[in-house]
Amino acid sequence: MGVYLRPATLEAALAALAARRWTVLAGGTDHFPARGDVLPDEDILDITALDGLRAIVARDDHWLVPSGATWSDVIAAELPPLFDGLKQAAVQVGGRQVQNTGTVVGNLCNASPAADGVPCLLALDAEVELASASGHRVLPVADFLRGPRTTARRADELVVGLRIPRRDAARSGFLKLGARRYLVISIAMVAVVVEMADGRITHARVAVGACGPMAARLPAVEAALLARAPITMAMLAPITPIDDVRATAAYRREAALELVRRAVAALA
Ligand SMILES: Cc1cc2nc3c(=O)[nH]c(=O)nc-3n(C[C@H](O)[C@H](O)[C@H](O)COP(=O)(O)OP(=O)(O)OC[C@H]3O[C@@H](n4cnc5c(N)ncnc54)[C@H](O)[C@@H]3O)c2cc1C
Repeated sequence: MGVYLRPATLEAALAALAARRWTVLAGGTDHFPARGDVLPDEDILDITALDGLRAIVARDDHWLVPSGATWSDVIAAELPPLFDGLKQAAVQVGGRQVQNTGTVVGNLCNASPAADGVPCLLALDAEVELASASGHRVLPVADFLRGPRTTARRADELVVGLRIPRRDAARSGFLKLGARRYLVISIAMVAVVVEMADGRITHARVAVGACGPMAARLPAVEAALLARAPITMAMLAPITPIDDVRATAAYRREAALELVRRAVAALA
């Protein structure tokens, strides 16, 4: 029979992680469905009671989305237009119950190719703050994600939050295509962040998810936006979609291109 621990402080959680191996549990909305009907014998470190890791706050040069921030917290928080895309993703993650318990950090740590939050975080240039009993480190999201269901997190580390660089003049958007409007796993989704001056795009980030083992940024599309050039299929080379039950690879490519064009048009 596994052990269940629900510490109230980060120090206690990190001390536990330093002592032996635990399965970290946040909202559980990825954790439990992945285990099916029979729960395995594993030691659970439930982080939902950790103090002070819930509110999204502005620091000097970045925003912090802490590990306890749920999708509902993102929806409810007063945030600048930079966060519009993450908010649009939040209202489409599952239904209200899932949004009330599922966390943004859990979505990232689960490292699903279809995680709706990940393209948003890539487009926001988000960094992952990891803590252990021996110290802190910070990694860009693209380095934190190592592959499907694989991250750079060490067993003794906890992700304590996501740092999102402040871009007060930037706006963002998110578009998701599924087989129906809500409660659906994405066929493709796109996140865009742009900053404009004098009618021109001066900063652009575009990322696509569910079209490869991991969500990917599209640097050629970003360069085209800065150069006022048309967006073409060739610029989607970083995506490597597969045929599966939800869509063919060819359909996903077309859908991703259309979503990118629509998301950009809506912002700029
Ligand atoms: C009905 C339903 C609908 C859903 N719809 C969507 C959807 O539309 N889009 C979508 O993207 N997802 C969807 N999901 C998946 C899920 O809700 C999200 O990915 C959610 O954000 C996961 O967060 P969580 O807090 O529940 O993570 P958990 O399930 O608690 O954890 C997920 C993983 O992350 C790890 N982890 C969590 N927090 C930390 C931390 N701080 N440090 C280290 N590791 C950590 C856990 O160990 C686990 O491996 C759905 C799930 C359900 C059940």
